[in-house]
This record gives sequence, C-alpha cells and structure tokens, in this order.
Amino acid sequence: MWNDTQQHHTHEDVKRVYYLSLEFLLGRSLDNTLLNMQCKDLYRDALKGLGFRLEDLIEEECDAALGNGGLGRLAACFMDSLASMDYPAWGYGLRYTYGIFQQRIVDGYQVEYPDFWLNFDNPWEFPRLDVVYEVRFYGSVTKISDSKDETAKYSWAGGEVVQAVAYDVPIPGWNTKNTINIRLWSSKPKKKFDLKSFNEGNYQKSVEEQQMAENITSVLYPNDNTMAGKELRLKQQYFFICATLKDIVRRFKKMGHPWKEFPNKVAIQLNDTHPSLSIPELMRRLVDIEGLPWDEAWGIVTRTFAFTNHTVLPEALEKWPVPMMNRLLPRHLQIIYDINLYFLQNVEKIFPNDRDKLSRMSIIEEGYPQQVRMANLAVIGSHTVNGVAEIHSLLVKHEIFKDFVDYFGVLKFQNKTNGITPRRWLLQANPGLSELITEALGNDEWIGDLSLLKGLKKFADDEIFQEKWIQAKYSSKEKLCQYIKDVCDIQINPDSIFDVQVKRIHEYKRQFMNILAVIHSYLQLKNSSVEKRESFIPRTVIFAGKAAPGYYIAKLIIKLINSVADVVNKDKETNQFLKVVFIPDYNVSAAEVIIPASDVSQHISTAGTEASGTSNMKFVLNGGLIIGTLDGANIEIKDQVGQENIFIFGCQAHQVNDIRHTQKYRKLVLNPYLESVIAALKEDRFCKWEIIAPLIETLTVGGDFYLISHDFQSCNNSLLSLLDLEAISNVQKSYQDRRGWAKKSILAAAGMGMFSSDRTIKEYAQDIWKLTPCRVP
Ligand SMILES: *Cc1c(COP(=O)(O)O)cnc(C)c1O
Repeated sequence: MWNDTQQHHTHEDVKRVYYLSLEFLLGRSLDNTLLNMQCKDLYRDALKGLGFRLEDLIEEECDAALGNGGLGRLAACFMDSLASMDYPAWGYGLRYTYGIFQQRIVDGYQVEYPDFWLNFDNPWEFPRLDVVYEVRFYGSVTKISDSKDETAKYSWAGGEVVQAVAYDVPIPGWNTKNTINIRLWSSKPKKKFDLKSFNEGNYQKSVEEQQMAENITSVLYPNDNTMAGKELRLKQQYFFICATLKDIVRRFKKMGHPWKEFPNKVAIQLNDTHPSLSIPELMRRLVDIEGLPWDEAWGIVTRTFAFTNHTVLPEALEKWPVPMMNRLLPRHLQIIYDINLYFLQNVEKIFPNDRDKLSRMSIIEEGYPQQVRMANLAVIGSHTVNGVAEIHSLLVKHEIFKDFVDYFGVLKFQNKTNGITPRRWLLQANPGLSELITEALGNDEWIGDLSLLKGLKKFADDEIFQEKWIQAKYSSKEKLCQYIKDVCDIQINPDSIFDVQVKRIHEYKRQFMNILAVIHSYLQLKNSSVEKRESFIPRTVIFAGKAAPGYYIAKLIIKLINSVADVVNKDKETNQFLKVVFIPDYNVSAAEVIIPASDVSQHISTAGTEASGTSNMKFVLNGGLIIGTLDGANIEIKDQVGQENIFIFGCQAHQVNDIRHTQKYRKLVLNPYLESVIAALKEDRFCKWEIIAPLIETLTVGGDFYLISHDFQSCNNSLLSLLDLEAISNVQKSYQDRRGWAKKSILAAAGMGMFSSDRTIKEYAQDIWKLTPCRVP
C-alpha cells in the first residue's frame, strides 16, 4: 500500500504537500497501525495462534518521542489525518538518536536520562541507503561573474561536508489504502574515514570530523516554547532543510515541468520558524545552482511556502546571531540581506520615512551582536501565515505581525484552529468508550467524520446510556489506578474525582497555581471539623510533565508538587479526601492511559499565552470536563460544548496588560488565601523554604508576571463550584447528580466534532495548499 500510494501519486503527477517539522511526537505505532488498517482482530487471533497476547506485545514497543510536546504531537496528528483523507502528503523531519529525555523523580527532583530509543532497532523505519545527500557547512563564497548588478553569480565552497541518509516511516490512513511517508534524515560522515589526512599525521582532525558529522542528529533539543541559541541547533536546522529541499526539488525535476510550475506541484508548510532557512535555501538553489533570475526565483519561493506560528511568547521567537550565521552559512546570510533590502525598499515606498516601522519589520535586529529574526524571514518568504486558534490568530494579526498586516493586507494572515486525530485519541486510547459510541450511533462512521458525535446529544438524558458512559469512564479510572500503583506505588481511590494537569511544565501553563490551590484545599481540610470533612468530595490531583533541563523555575515547580504530594498522601487525617500524584516521564503512551480516566482536567494558562493547546481537546473528547481560562482553544471548546459544560475562570486576555501595569506601578497585593498558603510554605510544612524560595519569589519580588495571585481566588471558586455540584450528589440525591455529571460529560464529548485534525487539515488543504485528495485505487 505504501509503494502503491507513491507510484499512484507519481503516475497522476499530483500536487503534493510537504510538512516540514523538526519534531514528530509519534508515540507507538503497532496498535494505531492495526486499527487504521482495520486488521486488529485478525492480527490478535494470529498472534494467539503463536502463543502471544496482543496487549503484551503492544506494551513492548518504545515510544518514538522525537518531539517536546504539543507542536510535535500536532505534526503526528496531521500525518494521520493527511493519510486518512487521501491527501498526497509527505512529512519531513530528523531521526534523532536520542529523543526527548526520560524523566525520573529522585528525592522529588526531576532527573534526566537519555532516551536511546533505537536500542532494539526500530521496526517501523526503512533505511534508504540509496537516498543520500551532501550538506555543507562553513566554507566561503566567491563571486563568479563580475557584473555588479543582481545578475552576479555566487558559489559557496569549502568548509565541512556531511551526508544525510533517509529513513522512511509509513503512515497508514484509516480505512483507505493511502499510506504516506515520513522521511527522517540521519547524519553520517561523508567518507568512512579520512585516510589521507590520517596518514599525513592529522589523526585528531580526522576523528573530530567523523564525530562532528555524527553529532548533528544525535539529540533533540528539549526546549518547549523557548529557544536555545546553540550552534549545533542551527546546524540541525540547516542539515534538515538542505537535505529536504534537495529531495523535493529532485522529485519535481523528475517530472520535467518548467520551474514556474513548481508552486503548482509543491506546497511546503513550515511548522514554526524552525525550518525557515528553507526560504533562503530554495533561493540559493534556484539562483546559484539552477541559474534563475532573482525575481523569478522569489516569485516561486513566495508562492510555495506557508508558515504556522505557534506562540506569542517572546522567549520562544527564534533569533540567530549574525556572526554565527555568517560563519556557518555565509551564502545564506548574503541572500537574507538581499531579501531584506528588496523587501524594505518596497515597504519604504508605501510608508516613506517611517524608520521605526522599517526597523521593526527588518529581518535583521540591530544590537551587539545583530540577530536574524527568523519569524520576520518566515512571514516575508511565505504566501500565508497562520495562527493555531482564533484568539491566537488575532494576537498574530494585531500584535506580533501588525506591521506586516499593514503592508501585505489582512488576507495573508489566517486562522487554522488545531485538532487531534480521533483514531489515536479516542478509538485507540479508549476502546470501551469507542464501542459505546459506535453502539449508540449505530455505526463507526464517526471515526472518519467526528462531527457525527453530535448524534450523542439525544442520549444525554438517557439513563441507561448515562450508566454505560459512567461505567466506561470508571474502567478507564481503574486502569489508571493500576498504572499509578505500578509506576508510583501510590494507591488511589477510583471513586474520587480525578483532577488532571498533564503537559510540559512551564510558568505560563501555571502548574504552580494548581499546586498552590491544592495546598489551600489541604489547609482548609486540616482546619475543618471531622463532620465538615465528611462533606468534602474525595479528590485525586494528578500531575505529569517534563521541564526543560535548563529551566530552573520549572524544575522547582516539580519539586514543590512532589513535596506537597509526600505530605498530603501520608496525612491520615485527610488522605481519604485528598491525594496528589506526580506521574513521571509523561509521553504519548502515558497520555493514552491518563486522558481517558480524567473527570476534570486543568488548562489554566494566563489568558493570551497558550496558542491553542491540544490536550484540552483530547480530554473533552474522552468525556472529561475542562477547568480552564479563556485562552487558546478553550474559548472555541466553550462555544462548541456550551458554557454549562465547562468550568471557566480567571482574567481575559484583553485585561492582562492593565493588571500587569497595576501590579507593577501601584502595589502588588497578594490574595489573602495565597498569603496563608505562602505562610505555610515558610513554616517548612512541605519542604525546606530555602529550596522553593526562588519559586515563591516569582510571585512577590518577581512581580507575578503570570497573574497567579489575580486568578487564584476565582481558580478556587471554580474548584468549589465543581465540588459543590458533586456535593449535592453525595448525599441522598447522589443518583440524581451522578446523572447530572454524566449529562455534562456526554454533551461535552458530543460537541467536539470540530476539533478533529481532519477538519483542520481540510482547511489547510483548501485555503493554503490548494490541494485535492487523490484516492489510491
Ligand atoms: C497532546 C500532548 C501534549 C500537548 O499538551 P498541551 O496540554 O496542549 O500542552 C504534550 N505532550 C503529549 C505527550 C501530548 O500527547
């Protein structure tokens, strides 16, 4: 099927989309592949004949963890949707020897271990030793012709040359023959060993060059929403796009079309700015190597690329020092300067003498050293720029790229709200609930058309259906209990409310606020009479997530959560009402166990900071309710599921600047409940104050940039409203309320149709790529 797909696309000479991403967070492949190929039962029976259980075999597979979090997982969901909807598509990425680090918790602290996922070989990859390209770094540029105008020719030579070897990974679509390809590049030394150099006595240099080549794809940078300005990372980016563009151009040239046809056959989507060196690289190929005039080449480039922005956090916007780029990629820097000059000349014609505007729009940021702003390069070199949720796309237009909207017009800037694949995040992760949905709807067409879930609405009040729904949730909760027993050795109560926050640990995501609210609940419990405690609905607060190894404050948040867990879980007075769990090493496979088991999950970023979020969608699709802020896709989820089926709290994005202003210039008065929580922390009740002081001080001396104090009260009110709801149910009316909760859960899941990545991909294909499906016969 994989081969047939490629042959058919070539035979039909179709337009293809290329999704370029430095990250693909695929997770495991066996279960997903069997489900998509609709042969799981057959395969299970065959295995049984050999004396094995499919469920055991599935657990043997390592996660392919070539990504950090949401951005990498989005790429994986997009591949599943592209394949399932018969699009002619390719994913391109890097085959890191070490994926995202494995996290262990030692004495409450995160400790990182290497993720050598290829230890037992990877059965899902096909090495393509016949697909090999050379990639150059450093070296120098010489002018070939002496004409001084734009027709001057340049050549880049010397430096170091390494090889990129292709490894192909199949992505089978659901219920179709269409099986697309993710091509991952691995770096290899150009020659086995420089024997000549070695014989000349240059042993050291020969070995170093060998090492240098192997290093390029050895490790994934473990930063989520921050950028590390390391030269090796820039090398990875160039290595990636150089090999990828050679491959794409080779495939185009094979068909014998004229160059002006390139944008009609090739659409390239840049997943964030990480692959945006593609823009000067394609210019270099077209001008220096293929000999096209600059203007013609620029027309082709800008009709080919489209760019997805994933964040508005300033610390995440990529900038590379000019001296570093000049050393590593001297010809690309020249091309970037030329792109910039011609662009700014055009801007100047429309906005004469506005020097501030020109300096804001320039690809080059002045300073010591100067920096190349990759986001500006990506906007200028793309025909379309998109954000990933409505609110985020508004911020993209009205804040970060405002000047570019004035120049290019608003139509270049679009929204494409993220989605998730229902194959992995419902069918595979939650077979019990999937079966129930298929039974209720009368068929399994919802798997390929998630909008059909709205058919569940008519069962929201159906007592028998509600009971089955609750049972499905309960057995997922029992599975998570077993998982937590196995990995944390903590016993939790499946009848307690599972209140889950699992995602990368970051100040803007505010796990810190969540754990402070947990401390608040604990203190209230401790201060209550025994009778009053009995009315408290038992709650298990579950955290998981990795912190970037160099992110000191995020690592302290993990330490604080584990310290609170230790105290709270041991407290015999309260531990039947409140427990706290930190599950180590959060990854896709852990998510598949945790998400179906949640009653509520927290998506509580400071309004205006989370571009979209996608785990919010996974939880609601599995019948969990959201406690969240009006941020990212939460806003659109609220619109779809109805405000009575989501718990919203906290300030809104348009209020953030005023609140920060007040905190900064008038007086930062902390919420009184928060003050009492901090007082308890100062008494060393959870861990030594010295340890967590730098974290707590982000609230006090640090000015509380993420507005935890401001949102703390309403965060607790939201928790209370949630607990009250169950409180009524807890006594005689318990049956009634159990049903009330089930109704919310059913209605919420029934409203999730638009959050399928199938819908997202259709929008990209129609509005950005101009791509039509091509069914493999
Ligand atoms: C979906 C997913 C994410 C993204 O979670 P957010 O809460 O949207 O940040 C991160 N990691 C894994 C393993 C995921 O499956």
